[in-house]
Amino acid sequence: MLNTADFYHVWRIDQSSEQLKEEIKEHCHTDIERCLECGKCSGGCSNAHIFDITPRKIIQLIKIGEEAKLLKMDALWSCVACQLCVDRCPSSINIPRIMDYLREKAYKQHIPATRPNVQLFHELMLGHINRFGRVPEALLSVEFNIRSKQYTKDAQMGMKMFFKGKLNPIPARVKDIKKVRRMFRNLPMQREG
Ligand code: SF4
Ligand code: SF4
Repeated sequence: MLNTADFYHVWRIDQSSEQLKEEIKEHCHTDIERCLECGKCSGGCSNAHIFDITPRKIIQLIKIGEEAKLLKMDALWSCVACQLCVDRCPSSINIPRIMDYLREKAYKQHIPATRPNVQLFHELMLGHINRFGRVPEALLSVEFNIRSKQYTKDAQMGMKMFFKGKLNPIPARVKDIKKVRRMFRNLPMQREG
């Protein structure tokens, strides 16, 4: 029989799992109760070999409300949003969208990324999309190297690409940049605290 402490623990897990599931439903338009636990997502994931928690287990952790664990996991920063898991899922569970949502949560709560400079890369990339409406690879690489103090990182490859005409050093802007900026203004990006 459950004592009071056990009962409170079970009740707390139940409450937080319901809350997280509702958030996922609302923000990611995905009902994780439809997950069949078949594991096709993990089997087809292009990066599962480096994930600390595989996609199927991520869905299980959401079901039991293990939010703290999810916001600290390394998989959050090594998912490349390739959509392979979505293609394979018989229940159309949108795992990359869930990853996006959890990443936003971790960022807003100042939970550091498990990989060095990954948040810096995300911030610079989004900043460039806001400025140009697209990602100017040459400028992004140079800015990233300077800000992360890795001054000569990939320099040789960059030069090769430049001489082959694969890198344009002058960033081009999309025609309707105002539309892109309006989209950014509407994003709830404020961090807590
Ligand atoms: S493929 Fe879809 S249904 Fe199967 S375990 Fe993964 S999320 Fe669940
Ligand atoms: S989107 Fe992310 S979780 Fe899904 S298969 Fe690609 S790397 Fe794996």
